[in-house]
Amino acid sequence: MLSDLLDLLFPRRCPACDAVADVSARFCPDCLPGVVPAPRHACPVCGAPAGHDGPVFPCVECRRRPPPFRRAAAAFLFGGSLADALARFKSGGVPDFPDAVAAPFARAVARLLAADRPPLPVHLAVAVPPDPQRLARRGFDPATLVIRAALRHLDLRLAHDVLRSGPRPRPQRDLDRDARLRALHGVFRAAPGAERRLRGRHVLLLDDVRTTGSTVAACARTLLAAGAASVRVATLALVE
Ligand SMILES: [Zn+2]
Ligand SMILES: [Zn+2]
Repeated sequence: MLSDLLDLLFPRRCPACDAVADVSARFCPDCLPGVVPAPRHACPVCGAPAGHDGPVFPCVECRRRPPPFRRAAAAFLFGGSLADALARFKSGGVPDFPDAVAAPFARAVARLLAADRPPLPVHLAVAVPPDPQRLARRGFDPATLVIRAALRHLDLRLAHDVLRSGPRPRPQRDLDRDARLRALHGVFRAAPGAERRLRGRHVLLLDDVRTTGSTVAACARTLLAAGAASVRVATLALVE
């Protein structure tokens, strides 16, 4: 009742354009069609949309070179109003963006965790650490705020100081996957003492956007090298 009254007095704003938003959808009716859920019909390993209606198998990329993570999933395809909202949030514009996307992000994580039979436990939830230079410039880490909001729905908490990041190389989209991975070599490392917490543990690795997959792959390799038993990857959005 009180929340209904509050919604009436202080209507929720669309995180993409600031128009009055639908209470349950959180985005306004104009922007909602531009918020595209990641298709369920997808590669069971990396989550890439299958692009056909038939039975799904691991995609060509995953068959040719299996990624270091066990499987990956995302809540949304990156682009449209979701990308607009995320950009506004990163520039400090819409503080309630994490809250607006927390429930669908949490559902995507829950589906990812339900994909293993019997289910594997999540011993540690770990965020991809921010680029230290970007963190210094922004003064906050947008991805962690989004991840924390989603994990609250799942009664999971982020483990602190498991991975650390050195300065990231400039994103070079024209590089192939191997070259991107080489560029990230040595950028991520396990925090001092993290090996003890990681040994034999099943890790859930989280980030806001997965672009080429090289960042989560580099983090997964670091976690596995530090003794983790498995890494599953969940991101808010996936670049197709
Ligand atoms: Zn809108
Ligand atoms: Zn795949």
